[in-house]
Amino acid sequence: MNKDTEIIRTQSGQSQNREHSVPLYLTSSFTFESAEQARSLFADEIEGNIYSRFSNPNTSEFIEKMCLLEGAEDGFAFATGMAAVFVGFGAFLQAGDHVLAARSVFGSSHQLLTKVLPKWGITSSYADVSKPEEWESLIQPNTKLIFIETPSNPQLELIDLEWLGNLKRKHNLILSVDNCFATPYLQTPIAFGADLVIHSATKFIDGQGRVLGGAILGRKDLISEVRFFARHTGPSMSPFNAWILSKSLETLPVRMDRHCSSALALAEQLDGHAELESVAYPFLPSFPQYELAKKQMKQGGGIVTLIVKGGYERAHKFIDALQMLSKTSNLGDSRTTITHPASTTHSKLTLEEREAVGIFDGLVRISVGLENKEDIIQDIERALEASK
Ligand SMILES: *Cc1c(COP(=O)(O)O)cnc(C)c1O
Repeated sequence: MNKDTEIIRTQSGQSQNREHSVPLYLTSSFTFESAEQARSLFADEIEGNIYSRFSNPNTSEFIEKMCLLEGAEDGFAFATGMAAVFVGFGAFLQAGDHVLAARSVFGSSHQLLTKVLPKWGITSSYADVSKPEEWESLIQPNTKLIFIETPSNPQLELIDLEWLGNLKRKHNLILSVDNCFATPYLQTPIAFGADLVIHSATKFIDGQGRVLGGAILGRKDLISEVRFFARHTGPSMSPFNAWILSKSLETLPVRMDRHCSSALALAEQLDGHAELESVAYPFLPSFPQYELAKKQMKQGGGIVTLIVKGGYERAHKFIDALQMLSKTSNLGDSRTTITHPASTTHSKLTLEEREAVGIFDGLVRISVGLENKEDIIQDIERALEASK
């Protein structure tokens, strides 16, 4: 069966009511048939639901579909993407360990690496995405894990997953990839050697800006560590959010096709525009890593990054001149959204730190939605003119 079909037909079962759409299991705990069955469930001798912090039919269905898409053996669902990122570190690292991370990671992941993990004696270094030849020299004897995002937020820099898979094998490290921007429909890091795939399901997986969620997918042995850590620290996804997100996955392929084709059309239309310094989109032939994008991604994704002429002030003027696009920090929504990272999501960084990772003052991030593409393009072109 084709994966697009399988993701629609996968369902966790049916009750005696013979419902067609899976019910919502709003229950904190599950009953045991006998004292003996309870004993064997707690002893992990048999599989089954005990308590919704450990597992629930809705979260299990969501994870079954995520495993199918990512080509993973097992997974665990989290309340938010950051809970997943945190457990992806917490379950595998101890005092004295070191993490090698790509320099451009999500803002809260950066705070975790630089402010939270050091409290428990876990250190990290940043590697420059544009200088792969330097990465190996940054691996220390105590390095345990590599953490990256590709494409990165918001500059859309790519990392060669095949190359990184070979590096991690040579040094026997855990490779953890935050696959939020691409989604498993466009890119499956496990196929290139990643051990853990991390998601914020809040973005394209929900796709309509309603609920938060996260997931970690990977090999059975690694996920059992994740499950132990999560079971006893409590960051699990709620059944309601899992119910929403599992349904969302049925439409992920059709939504991503539309996000990607409209994003490519927008990028092509704006490439070389007189009011822009640059347009970044992985499947645009002028994109510096176009060949790599074609090699490891099925399509270019839903995000287009522009650098407007005139810096910070012009970027604000441009955003304020838009009539349709939503001014919000979220992305992966059915509605096109726009963000100015330098004054919002990345404002905690100094100007030097921002410029070092390519977040210039004129940079705006557009998450291309599912509206008619001509309407999206028109609003942007008109606002570029109006903000001159
Ligand atoms: C949004 C995001 C996260 C965090 O996810 P939440 O669901 O907001 O906690 C992590 N990584 C990336 C790349 C993101 O875009």
